[in-house]
Amino acid sequence: MTRVAILGAAGRMGRALIQTLAAEPQASLAAALDRAGAADLGRDASALAGLPESGVLLGADLPAALPGVDVVIDFTRPDGTMAALQACLRQRKALVIGTTGLDAEQKAAIAEAAKTIPVCFSANYSVGVNVCLRLLRIAAQTLGEGYDVEIVEAHHRHKVDAPSGTALRMGEAVADALGRKLEDCAIYGREGHTGARDGNTIGFATVRGGDVVGDHTVMFLGEGERVEISHKASSRTNFARGALRAAVWLAGRPAGLYDMQDVLGLK
Ligand code: NAD
Repeated sequence: MTRVAILGAAGRMGRALIQTLAAEPQASLAAALDRAGAADLGRDASALAGLPESGVLLGADLPAALPGVDVVIDFTRPDGTMAALQACLRQRKALVIGTTGLDAEQKAAIAEAAKTIPVCFSANYSVGVNVCLRLLRIAAQTLGEGYDVEIVEAHHRHKVDAPSGTALRMGEAVADALGRKLEDCAIYGREGHTGARDGNTIGFATVRGGDVVGDHTVMFLGEGERVEISHKASSRTNFARGALRAAVWLAGRPAGLYDMQDVLGLK
């Protein structure tokens, strides 16, 4: 039985994780944590997620909770992720990171910590999205240079980063397959007199609004045809189920930096 701590337990993903965990025979909720000062501290975490009480109270002290935990699942903000990374490093615990919007320095800190502890870091824990990443590599390798690549994503009005971590990951998958570096060829939005499209670029467009859980479409636009690979999430459950699958998979693994492609055996 994998003992799981959820960091960000009062949030949208945290609550979805607690609901999913309740039906998971291979894992149990060992701790539920959120930031110091969060409104619901001290309340029963399962009740917060709309379930019968489990006796696990929402706390804010991750280091104190860690001795009774095998894996931490983090869906918070980058500062929460960095604090979790240091706490897990100190106590040699496995960490599943779902938080997006991390900068290059923070990603480097994750890679460094993964030399000592097992870390799974994925911009998207949905199994369907990970299958799409594989399809994108095949499409990019086979279609090659003659196709313009554009990535369109839509999310709910509360999302604070753009483009989504998943859209960036999709861009990286295509760029890698084409032998490019995303940071050299990404165009984030267009406005005004842009000139003709440079065939080496990968364009991104972002839509924000309503309660859209997460839509991503990658277009390969060629002469006389276009290929579109789309994924549409209709609830957060698929991310929660994937993250939990990653947590069970990660427990007891050797130190290393893994992602959902590793968990699903898609590499
Ligand atoms: P949310 O705002 O509903 O929840 C975030 C929770 O984290 C809140 O309860 C907040 O109080 C808590 N928090 C913030 N800072 C903290 C800190 N320093 N320490 C402890 N807790 C802290 O957000 P959400 O919709 O649940 O998304 C959370 C993160 O997960 C975002 O970065 C989002 O983009 C990402 N996300 C990733 C995936 C994926 O598959 N990788 C899927 C969905 C969302």
